[in-house]
Amino acid sequence: MNLTLIIPAYNESEMIPILWEKLNTTLAQLTDVQAHILFVNDGSADDTLLKLKQLAAQDSRVQIISLSRNFGKEAAMTAGIEAAVSQQTDGIIILDADLQDPPELIPQFVEKYRQGFEVAYGVRTDRASDSFLKRVTANGFYRVYNLLADSPLVPHAGDCRFLSRRAAEALLRLPERERFMKGLFAWIGFKSAPIPFARQARAAGRTKWNYFQLTRFALQGLTAGSTSVLKLGTYLGVVVSIGSVCFAAWVAFKKIMFGNPVSGYASLMVAILFCSGVQLISLGILGEYIGRIFMETKQRPLYIIDEKINC
Ligand code: UDP
Ligand code: MG
Repeated sequence: MNLTLIIPAYNESEMIPILWEKLNTTLAQLTDVQAHILFVNDGSADDTLLKLKQLAAQDSRVQIISLSRNFGKEAAMTAGIEAAVSQQTDGIIILDADLQDPPELIPQFVEKYRQGFEVAYGVRTDRASDSFLKRVTANGFYRVYNLLADSPLVPHAGDCRFLSRRAAEALLRLPERERFMKGLFAWIGFKSAPIPFARQARAAGRTKWNYFQLTRFALQGLTAGSTSVLKLGTYLGVVVSIGSVCFAAWVAFKKIMFGNPVSGYASLMVAILFCSGVQLISLGILGEYIGRIFMETKQRPLYIIDEKINC
């Protein structure tokens, strides 16, 4: 079997030698697998590229695609998958460079392929390596996403996965610029197998995500996959309208029965502020979608390749 390991790397200089050691040992056990290790250097500012080039010089299995700047992990993965599919590969495996997706999963992925699965994905059984807040927000995200989206995500399945050539080709047929890969992986379907694993803490270096970016990413995910969020505005509008009719009836009733003048300021302010809030949220949601349309219509390439080595 021809296998391509795709490893997006952004400022992972310390990790490259450690990772390569590990991959080397794991791949040595897989005697009937011809593997390529395709690193996608996502515009690293440190000497990741230099380290990769040193590896590529001594090991022809190591391939490098170096992007012209930092395009983000989603674009880097896509660049890797496109490159792998253009070669003679039977399947790809996406791994993080920081060993949080353990290379020990590789033989299990290969096993699933042999059993006829087109897709196999790692599911984190243990998020102890994440902070409490990240775990809570991640849980919340999966819940909301699966409530709204048409093709549900498997909670805690990351990007670490095996795709057969067919599945990878299917993925590349999705033309969108806004690439929320978890959603795209879910959308293509195919016979899939989960592989539980405990996610380790990062072996070295630091995470590239802060909460602001994660929020943006979650919002992108929610609006990329379906139009359900748009309908939220409609529902909110309906609820507020019904509420206001009831309130009007109550005011009229009070006036007729007791002749009370409507007690004014507070209720007025609450009503005004509430309605403004609902309107602003609806406008914001509309804006999110219009922004996406804007980005999609530009049809820009997802990434620009600066340099290719061994591929
Ligand atoms: N990564 C990338 N481009 C980016 C950010 C991250 O290619 O702009 C890579 C990074 O080098 C790593 C993987 O994506 O291999 C996961 O990143 P990270 O460990 O920071 O994410 P976390 O594990 O904290 O979710
Ligand atoms: Mg990580």
